[in-house]
Amino acid sequence: MSDQLVRVVTEDGQLRAAAADTTELVREICRRQQTDLTAKIALGRLLTGAALMGCLLKGRQRLALLVEGNGPLGRLMVETDAEGSLRGKVQNPVAGLPPRDNRFDVAGAVGHAGFLHVIKDLGLKEPYRSMVQLQSSEIGEDLAWYLTHSEQVPSCVAVGVELDRQGEVAAAGGFLVQALPPGDQGELGRLEDHLARLRPTTSLLREGFSPREILGQVLDEHPFSVHQDTRLRFSCPCNRSQIGDVILGLGRDELEAMVKEQNGAEVICDYCREVYQFDAAELETFISQL
Ligand code: ZN
Repeated sequence: MSDQLVRVVTEDGQLRAAAADTTELVREICRRQQTDLTAKIALGRLLTGAALMGCLLKGRQRLALLVEGNGPLGRLMVETDAEGSLRGKVQNPVAGLPPRDNRFDVAGAVGHAGFLHVIKDLGLKEPYRSMVQLQSSEIGEDLAWYLTHSEQVPSCVAVGVELDRQGEVAAAGGFLVQALPPGDQGELGRLEDHLARLRPTTSLLREGFSPREILGQVLDEHPFSVHQDTRLRFSCPCNRSQIGDVILGLGRDELEAMVKEQNGAEVICDYCREVYQFDAAELETFISQL
């Protein structure tokens, strides 16, 4: 089954919710980033969070999440758009941490101190930027804290990645539930106990539940209607002319050195790991433009 995001609103208008299956894209992005097991879970959770938070984007709007903790992974960055395209990268893809209490030490890999940055390009003059301190560094709680306290929309977030015995991503996904105005947090508060008892989203996905069926479980007794059903996929918008602009930005001295010492240049996209080669003649053309 391909990756999918479903967004719904309850019929009483009190809650908005979304659920996502991100298994394929997390698998693909982690393969490209060559992550170890703990990094796979951390990056997969952040990607799933971005997919869920991206459910309200429209047109050409974009959302980026950056987690900057003091752990061995360094910076984790993910991006998404209204079309359901996602990409992500991690500064140091090998956390190299032993498990704690038989669990992957995601919080240790991210680092217990640091920040979550949220950058939204809503097509306005300047992108909207916001930043909160990491709470638990487990990603899901950090995103919920941001939505509840910074955007002031009471929210529950669950994001998960389950690995198989070979360390491959067996399932990745999650859900987001938000209380809508003018109602208060009451309804969400009542739902929280129920959510705490729910089986992990990844277990449900492995058993063949669709995101829509998962929302049925998440929202318990609340009837809802589907507002959006989006296919999610890995996609990197990098291209040769964009990378060319980056090279041009290095300046004359640097470009001349590249021609002399390497007879060309090789640039690898941080996100998709695509390799772009530029030969000496192309670099000479760049130099002539400066
Ligand atoms: Zn790329």
